[in-house]
Amino acid sequence: LLQLFRPLNMLGWVYRSIKQGLIDMEQMFALLDTPAEIVDAPGAVPLRVHEGAVRFEGLRFAYEDGREILKGIDLEVPAGSSLAVVGSSGAGKSTLARLLYRFYDPSGGRILIDGQDIGRVTQDSLRAAIGIVPQDTVLFNDSIGYNIAYGREDAPQDEIEAAARGASIDGFIARLPDGYETKVGERGLKLSGGEKQRVAIARTLLKDPPILILDEATSALDSRTEEAIQSTLEGVAKSRTTIIIAHRLSTIVGADQIVVLDEGRVAERGTHGELLASGGLYAELWNRQAAERALEEAVE
Ligand code: ADP
Ligand code: MG
Repeated sequence: LLQLFRPLNMLGWVYRSIKQGLIDMEQMFALLDTPAEIVDAPGAVPLRVHEGAVRFEGLRFAYEDGREILKGIDLEVPAGSSLAVVGSSGAGKSTLARLLYRFYDPSGGRILIDGQDIGRVTQDSLRAAIGIVPQDTVLFNDSIGYNIAYGREDAPQDEIEAAARGASIDGFIARLPDGYETKVGERGLKLSGGEKQRVAIARTLLKDPPILILDEATSALDSRTEEAIQSTLEGVAKSRTTIIIAHRLSTIVGADQIVVLDEGRVAERGTHGELLASGGLYAELWNRQAAERALEEAVE
């Protein structure tokens, strides 16, 4: 019997080691937990979104002096297209998203939306144009309905419920003691990471913005829920400019453009097929994840 268990043990060890590597990669920074010290530029005008084209020009950024996180990023995201950003933990992916939402101002270069420098437009108009599903969602101490409708307080109940369905959180809400009126957040019902993530997805579906940022938007979900929401997100992304930061590469195979960020620089750029064929960082990451999926299936 021992003979039989030894290889099984070994397999378990390999599986755990790989899993731990993934968990380490997922220790990321919350997107919304950073206080904004950003003010409107004098004479700031509202952003006018025509098509929603996004352009990063020579973008540089450091949280602290002497440690540059983004070292000159040039990217063009044509209106209505999707850009996937991948790369190891700490590469600067979330930082790129935070700069587009203008949580911080760049130390060099600029970001343009339909030709307008986002540093020169009002923050309200910028943030109205962008929907963001962060890695870690912080909920308001209010009802779950309020949390979904946040940013569109006048939304009718049927639209709120449609958004909840799109994010696969309608069933969960139906089972709550007070339904949509149930208080959540620190002083209310505590939601799991996956439930909070689905609230953020519902909020974004309801907001229906021309520009969408998904920062590992489904990372806290189990694979079945992820699959259910994935198709909704793909539907939403189809008609608008979308920046998807992804950990699981299988979710971004169809992106119009994929970039690999490495130490604050664009290391590779192309479609899934092109990047696989070129046999670089992306291909390496893809093969590693494919092996892991196979192992996971074998263990199940
Ligand atoms: P990714 O999303 O690719 O994992 P991030 O953009 O979150 O990477 O972080 C890039 C680098 O910036 C990391 O080295 C991280 O430690 C650092 N960083 C992120 N947020 C802050 C912050 N608020 N203050 C200081 N350093 C930060
Ligand atoms: Mg991140």
